[in-house]
Formats: sequence, structure tokens, C-alpha cells
Amino acid sequence: MTELLYLADSYLKEFTAKVIDVAVEENAIELDRTAFYPTGGGQPCDLGEIKFAGKRSNVIKVKKIEGKIRHFLEGDLPAAGTEIFGEIEWERRYKLMRTHTAMHAISAVVWRDYQAQVTGGNFAPLAGRLDFEFEKLSADMTIEIEDKVNFEIKKGLEITSETLPRAQAEKIPDLIRTKINLLPPGLTEIRVVKIKDLDLQADGGTHVENTSEIGTIKIVGYKSKGRINKRIKIEIV
Ligand SMILES: [Zn+2]
Repeated sequence: MTELLYLADSYLKEFTAKVIDVAVEENAIELDRTAFYPTGGGQPCDLGEIKFAGKRSNVIKVKKIEGKIRHFLEGDLPAAGTEIFGEIEWERRYKLMRTHTAMHAISAVVWRDYQAQVTGGNFAPLAGRLDFEFEKLSADMTIEIEDKVNFEIKKGLEITSETLPRAQAEKIPDLIRTKINLLPPGLTEIRVVKIKDLDLQADGGTHVENTSEIGTIKIVGYKSKGRINKRIKIEIV
């Protein structure tokens, strides 16, 4: 098991760790702890580099495979037991944190004011898409949503997270809405991410600490993906 350092501190840029497993054919390593986020939950993985014994390798992909977090390297492969120094590409990660938090704010406002549930989404640094269970969506509505979300963001709302026993989390109405019951049955503890007075979600991603860090969201497009499914495209400036 790898300790996920980004869950406790999403602002952690550098860390030391030990190699606990090596996949030679894939040029990938598993670490006892990591600040690298593996692709998942709509959020792309971190990139960056590791250093060990005077060498340096790029981390070109991080992915959870059969429960193990594999760091795919370009360059030298350290042996099991090696102490490494890791550094994530912070500029990219911070943009992802801002974008991820914006996705929460948008889905919260759309639910609060239009009772449309989010059904999916993914994002890249400063751009993303969200799918909602809307029957109708118009250009006027997207302008209205954009204004409402930016109004909330500008309030400077705090974002916090805590880990709850599953049974307790499953009783929280806001979490039931986001289909907490669909999480893997083996999960006994649930990490809950909260934007003060706005949003509550079960979530293993990385977020900023205050909505004022996000910037300004722009809805740059929308289209129908079915009778009750509408896609919104966003950018952050
Ligand atoms: Zn999140």
C-alpha cells in the first residue's frame, strides 16, 4: 500500500520515498508514499521527476493498476529499496487543482438552482467538461450559470476535507445525491470534500484551499448529448 501524501496536503510539491516494487518491462516503480496523483475521478495524473543516486528520471504517467500506484519513468529505473526524491510538476498540478475545484462549484450551483444532477466530467489544466441531467439548456442559462458560479467563487469560500466511516457518510443527504452507494463495497472510510456553504462530495482528488484561487470560469460551449443529457464546456481564466 502506498501512502497518498496528496490527500493530506495537496500543496506538497516535493517528497522522499522508498521504492517498494519495480516493473522492469514497463519501466515503472511503486513507492511506499507519493505526492503524485494517479489518473482517476476525471483528474489527469501528475507529471514530474524523481532523483536517486545522482540520477534523474522523468515521471511520464502515474496510474493505479490492480490497486498499485505505478509511476512510469523515462530514464533510469531505481532498484527496489532505493530512496528517491520526487518532485511534481507544480504549475500543471496547481492548474488541475483550480480546475477540479471549479468543477465542484459548477455542479453545486447547477444542482442548487436547477436541480440538475451531474452525470460525468473530466478536465485538463484550466479546461474541462461536465455532463448534466438537463432536459433543456439555453445560451441564456449558460450565461446565468457562469455568473452564479463566479459570484460564489469570488466569495472566497474555504475548502476542507475529512475522512468519515462509510456508515456515517452514507447518511449525509448531499452525499446520497452524488451516488455514494456506487463507491466500491470494500471502501470502509470515505473522504469527504467540502466547499463551505456550497458543496459536499465523496472525493479522492486534489483541490485548492479557497475558491478565490480558482480564477474566473467561462462557459465556452454546450451541446446536447441526449434527451436528458447536456454537456457544458468550461475554461478558466
Ligand atoms: Zn473533487
